[in-house]
Formats: sequence, structure tokens, C-alpha cells
Amino acid sequence: MAKINLSNVHLRRVGGILLKKLCIFLLPILFFMLYTPKTLAAQQTSVSVVIKQVNLILNKETGEFVTLNKDDIVIVHGEENNLLKVTYKSYTGYLSSQYAKKITPKIRLIHPKEGTQVRKSNSEKAETVGNINTNLIINFYGTAAGGWSFVNYGDIYGYVPTSALKTPKPTKMIVSHKDGVTVRNMASFTSEKVGFMPNKTTVFSYSQSKEWSYVESKTFKGYVLSERLKPFLVTGNQKYNKGVSGAPKKRVALTFDDGPHKTVTGQILKILKKYDAKATFFIVGNRVKANSNVLKAIYNDGHEIGNHTWDHSKLTSLSAKNVKSQFTRTNDIVYATIGVYPTVFRPPYGSINNSVQAQINKPIILWSIDTLDWKHRNAKKTLQYVKNNVSDGSIILLHDIHQTTADSLESILQYLTKEGYELVTVTEILL
Ligand code: ZN
Repeated sequence: MAKINLSNVHLRRVGGILLKKLCIFLLPILFFMLYTPKTLAAQQTSVSVVIKQVNLILNKETGEFVTLNKDDIVIVHGEENNLLKVTYKSYTGYLSSQYAKKITPKIRLIHPKEGTQVRKSNSEKAETVGNINTNLIINFYGTAAGGWSFVNYGDIYGYVPTSALKTPKPTKMIVSHKDGVTVRNMASFTSEKVGFMPNKTTVFSYSQSKEWSYVESKTFKGYVLSERLKPFLVTGNQKYNKGVSGAPKKRVALTFDDGPHKTVTGQILKILKKYDAKATFFIVGNRVKANSNVLKAIYNDGHEIGNHTWDHSKLTSLSAKNVKSQFTRTNDIVYATIGVYPTVFRPPYGSINNSVQAQINKPIILWSIDTLDWKHRNAKKTLQYVKNNVSDGSIILLHDIHQTTADSLESILQYLTKEGYELVTVTEILL
């Protein structure tokens, strides 16, 4: 008993000294931890819109000011006593926080080949604050007079011509590196870390270059190393419609392969438009030059563009180098024609293996219903294949190079819409 009591006392004494020492050591850290986040939060830059005409006080002593109008966009550097420190074009000053509302940005893709310059004001003559390269994803906050948009990339804030921006389409991918991947706010190793995605995280990628991809997961968005991502593979006769239970409507993805075709594709576009249906077109690269206007029409009608190799080769018979070239040549000619890359890939004949897959950094989409339209060339049979097999989430294989396929489309769309199906792109069905 005594022994135990002694050691208890001893322990308590040692504990007391330790606690005192720890307090002296820890208190400043605790104080620092409590104090610092506030200071950091105050310095976090954000963007707000002015909700009514208000004065921006440039000098608190002299009262010098400029007047801001409703819908003017300001960069917010911090807040103190309900007063925001903001920058508007080339002015920096103070604004009552009740007159500004924080904007949640949307994302846009920079698409001119030479990228675009960011300016302090919505004018060609305004000072340049930075340059954003082509194919990068930026934050978009709103438009300004004269065809300008207010954007942000990393620590660059300012105006770019609205014509330099496109709405990007998502592609589904998976983090494939065992160590996961760090998320950054710019496509650069020196940029700020905004998060971390572990191996096997499902993401939507909105832009990919050789080195960096812009991705969004449920928790984070930003730039990650492209080599740490793997495409999402859709194979077999399965249904893929994760949103099925929550979706108000049953959905089907029509896919058209082997075009663009100079006469058939146009007829198909017309019928799709009539039924307000969206589809996915898997493009053969070497057909683009002669039918570039057809590809532009597909894209402008809001359909999804897929890559279906350069010359419809069976990829499993090619070397890795040739597989890569089939893929990138097609990506490049599509980009040169419409200013965006294909978002998905389909191998000719559905012929795929691991070494082919290793060369393709896009979701690989097969199909769940083969209408055999290329074989029987019979419009009634094509409709029958759809009727007999369709269900929620089906991906239907068709070819926009056969007249009989165009001839079958109106009856297919009549049937599917009557049955309550919504016609969507393959990426939408994978969402
Ligand atoms: Zn094909």
C-alpha cells in the first residue's frame, strides 16, 4: 500500500513539474494558434459584387472617394469593423461591408492558343497584371461592359475578354497513385497547396495538359499532377447511372461513332435538336479536315465530343507509340477545329487491353446496347434493338455514317421520349 502511495505522490510531483514546464512552453503556442487564424482569414483574398451605388473611400483622412455602381466587381483583401479593404480597377480603399456581396465563382476554360492577358480594368489599354496560358481553368465572377469578364487564377485578379473563355466539360477520372495527390491552386509546383486526394478518389477533370489537370472531388478543387490520374473505364453490358435513384427522369446516352460525315451527321443533328436530345459523337480524326464544319455544328449544338482514334485502327494490334499517336493526333485536330479537346474515348471494335489503356488519359467508354446498325443497315431493325434492350442508364451504340441510321433516329427518339427517357451525353450519365 505504502509503496503504491509513494509512487503516486512521486508521479504527481513529476507530473506537476512537467505540467508547469509544458505550460510555459505551450502557452505562447496556444496563444499564437488562437490568434493567427483570425489574421490569416482577414488576409484571404475574395471577390464581391457591389449591390448598390456606394462611395469607395480612398483616403480616410481627406475623405477622397470614387463612386462604385451596382454590379461593379471588387477584390476584397480583408475586413475590419464592418469595413472592407477592397480594390476596384486601379483604386484601393474602404467600403462598408453591407454594400458588397461575396461571389461564388464558376469555372471557365481559357481557350485561345496564345492564352490571354489579364488587365486591371475592362479596357484594351488598361495595365496588364498577368498572363494566363491556354487550356487552364480559372475562376469566373461576372461580366463587365465592353465584352469583358472578371476572373482569377492563383493570385492574379482582373479582366479578360469574354471571348477567351469557354465552359469546360467534365471527364470522370480516378486518382491512381498509391500516395494520392496534392491539390494546388495553380498549375505549378510553387503554387499554394489547397488539399490532398487519396488514392482511388473519384474526380471530375475539366482540363488536362501533359503535366497538370484541373480536377474537382467532393471536397477539393484545383490542379493535380496528370500522371497521378487514371481514366474511368466503362466496359461490358452494364448500366452506368449512379444518379438513377435521385434523377427525376430515366436517362439514355445515344452515341454516334465513325463520323463526322458530310451528309448523314447533319440529318442526325437536325432530329436531335427537334427532340431537345443531347448525344455523344466519337470522332475519327482523319475525317475532320474534310468535314470541319460538321464537327463545329456538332459542338455548337451542345453535344459531347469523343475521340475514336485517327484512322479507326484496332489498337490492340498496335505498338504503344502508335496507340499514343492515334489518340493525340485526333485530340489535336479536334482542338484545332473547335478549341476544346474531346472529353471521352472509345476504342474501335471495343478492342482494349491494359497496354492500350495505359496510353489513354481519358475515360474509356464502351456501350451497353449494340444496335448493329452498321451490319444490317435497316432502320426498323435499329429501332427494334433499342426497344428490346433499353433501360435506365443505357449507352446505345450507333453510327452517323449510314443513311439507314439517320432514317431510324426519329422513330427511336419518338419511342424513348414517349417512354419517359431523357437523352443525355455519356459524361452526364456517368455523373
Ligand atoms: Zn467505330
